[in-house]
Amino acid sequence: MSWLDGDEIALRPQRRLLCRVAALDDLTHDIRRVRLAIEAGGPFAFLAGQYASLTFKGMPPRDYSMANRPEEKLLEFHVRRMGAASVSAYIADQLCLGDPVVAEGPLGSAYLRERHEGPILAIAGGSGLAPIKAIVESALARGKRHAIHLYFGAGDERDVYLTDHFAALAARHDNFRFVPVLSAPRASTQRRTGLVHEAVATDIEALDGAKAYLAGPPAMVEAAMALLIGRLGLPPGDVHADAFYTEADKAAGATMRFTATLE
Ligand SMILES: Cc1cc2nc3c(=O)[nH]c(=O)nc-3n(C[C@H](O)[C@H](O)[C@H](O)COP(=O)(O)OP(=O)(O)OC[C@H]3O[C@@H](n4cnc5c(N)ncnc54)[C@H](O)[C@@H]3O)c2cc1C
Repeated sequence: MSWLDGDEIALRPQRRLLCRVAALDDLTHDIRRVRLAIEAGGPFAFLAGQYASLTFKGMPPRDYSMANRPEEKLLEFHVRRMGAASVSAYIADQLCLGDPVVAEGPLGSAYLRERHEGPILAIAGGSGLAPIKAIVESALARGKRHAIHLYFGAGDERDVYLTDHFAALAARHDNFRFVPVLSAPRASTQRRTGLVHEAVATDIEALDGAKAYLAGPPAMVEAAMALLIGRLGLPPGDVHADAFYTEADKAAGATMRFTATLE
């Protein structure tokens, strides 16, 4: 982390926010969007790509990434259902409008480097689209003119979401591309298929001056890092990644193989 990055972080103090569920909807069969209104403890300043530790009624805390741009009023989260008796299942099945939620943060160093001038390669898997959405939308809102590529890895068509939203963004910004890639389509498809990092490897030949932002399942993030750093030669300091490790992963001591990039 450079001193400039540290400076950006210092301007966003840690907060303990009391929030209420303001909106709930299903993005896919297993990803729910949760929007929170901040009732006390704000203002909440964060950088696009950061996350917060959320505590729902009677549940242990879990980390979830903000999908909204920092200047938007409601906090937005995309939560994928994991275990049967787990926080994400509680969010899927029991969370209601008006429920209280405590959010602590901001956390994380895989945030948009706003001073960077150069192309952006963003790779998301599943609900990893949440922080990547915040990063891409913030970069576009700040008038970045370099190419911004967003590759979104999903299993099947039913796992792809916000396609209209990103198609509309691409129509408004000719420097932005959105490429969904299906790894396990159950029917024939017009979309790209295969693993998302392989689609990147096919398309992207040079990453001169670029920064990469990655978020999603640890296996996807690690494969993408191996490609970007190992094969395409992107300096580790230009790859900013959040692997969505579960508490079980953390207890088992899981860390990324390319730890040099974890600041
Ligand atoms: C920085 C960061 C950001 C994140 N952002 C998001 C986000 O934006 N959206 C999102 O959906 N997720 C995100 N996550 C993941 C999230 O924090 C939770 O880990 C996830 O929701 C699962 O929590 P859970 O309580 O539902 O499941 P858990 O109870 O933690 O279980 C997860 C899985 O592990 C299995 N499991 C549980 N205990 C064990 C055990 N002892 N041994 C073996 N297997 C076990 C369960 O069956 C289940 O399949 C993020 C994680 C990190 C670290």
